[in-house]
Amino acid sequence: MTHCDFTHELEATSWVESAQGSEFPIQNLPFGVCSKHGIVVAIGTFALSMRLAIEEKALDVSGELSCALSSDNLNDFMSLGKTAWTQARQAIFSLLLSDADAREDLLVKIDELDLVLPATIGDYTDFYAARNHATNVGKMFRPDGDPLMPNYLHLPVGYHGRASSVVVSGTEIRRPFGQLKPDDADPIFGTCKLLDYELEFGAFIGSGNAMGDRITMGEAMDKLFGIVILNDWSARDVQKWEYQPLGPFNAKNFATTISPWIVTIDALAPFRTNGPMRFEGDPEILDYLKPVTDDVLDVQCAVSLSSSSMREQGMEAEQLTQSTLSHLTWTFAQMLVHHTSTGCPMNSGDLIGSGTISGETKDSRGCLLELTWRGTEPVSLPDGSERKFLQDGDELTIHAWCEREGAVRIGFGQCSGVVTPAN
Ligand code: MN
Repeated sequence: MTHCDFTHELEATSWVESAQGSEFPIQNLPFGVCSKHGIVVAIGTFALSMRLAIEEKALDVSGELSCALSSDNLNDFMSLGKTAWTQARQAIFSLLLSDADAREDLLVKIDELDLVLPATIGDYTDFYAARNHATNVGKMFRPDGDPLMPNYLHLPVGYHGRASSVVVSGTEIRRPFGQLKPDDADPIFGTCKLLDYELEFGAFIGSGNAMGDRITMGEAMDKLFGIVILNDWSARDVQKWEYQPLGPFNAKNFATTISPWIVTIDALAPFRTNGPMRFEGDPEILDYLKPVTDDVLDVQCAVSLSSSSMREQGMEAEQLTQSTLSHLTWTFAQMLVHHTSTGCPMNSGDLIGSGTISGETKDSRGCLLELTWRGTEPVSLPDGSERKFLQDGDELTIHAWCEREGAVRIGFGQCSGVVTPAN
């Protein structure tokens, strides 16, 4: 497989026994950050502390790489670029491989970690790259005419989000207030009634570009450090009133949750394919956005919801959606190239969101707006209640994983948040 090396070998196992068959086998090695230990790498039910491994001279890295890995977040490491990322991955793999000495003293239990945002996110942009989502939303918001805007198949549409509102999985999400416009009545200020989630993935920019420089399709995949699950919490009633003519604003700026572990592009090597979703009759895309490598990431994902009463009764969360990142019409590489096509500078730790991932079938729709068709087809929950949109106490969880024949299955962990009342 292109892009693969010895760190993807099927037979490789770790001396950390819980790694085998887990979300975090030795072929994964996602990076996270916790407040006590700084940068950590997940392996089975444990995390390897980079700082301890470097202090103990157990990890074969030196110079600026060992400095960056000892830091409090991943920004410095990301800024070193792809060669350094691959070097670190190979060194970590060698340290954890079953042939090596077991160094339990360098491990901490994942359960006991206080995981925080893995990087300082300077800028955050959210795209709209899944055609089925754009089509469904277009049908609902603009019932007359073509649901896709004329630009949609020519460029990846996006908006500048608020980096300050990105939080790590587990953070409570307070229901926002906003200006709402009831049908046939004057606008009011009140609590959001149509609170929604959006199933997305986020890509962290590793090494960026100087202002005025452009990133090309040939460079883009090597500029991306890795991927997280992302939930773009959305206030649909706020959005409906405010979104024209400049796009989403307050409807999207109160919270965006990401999963704590960044699964690197290196780890995703066996799951790269080509051909973003386009159909016969679609316009040809301009040269600067034409894929030159396998930049589609085949990642599976599932969304589940549990109400507070379901959790009190010990009921399992209800799965709402199963989908795949390969449903995107535009890849992260194309988003990055288009974003920088003006010379817009991207920095290490910047985050780009994919947009809501929806497939063609109802059970692959990536938000409640689409699943319940704007509240007209409520979802039933096992506690007997119904949902058109999220209620206080609801816990929304997204899981993601990659699997294919000839590769070891890897997981992303989870991206989760509980809705708390407005106040
Ligand atoms: Mn979104």
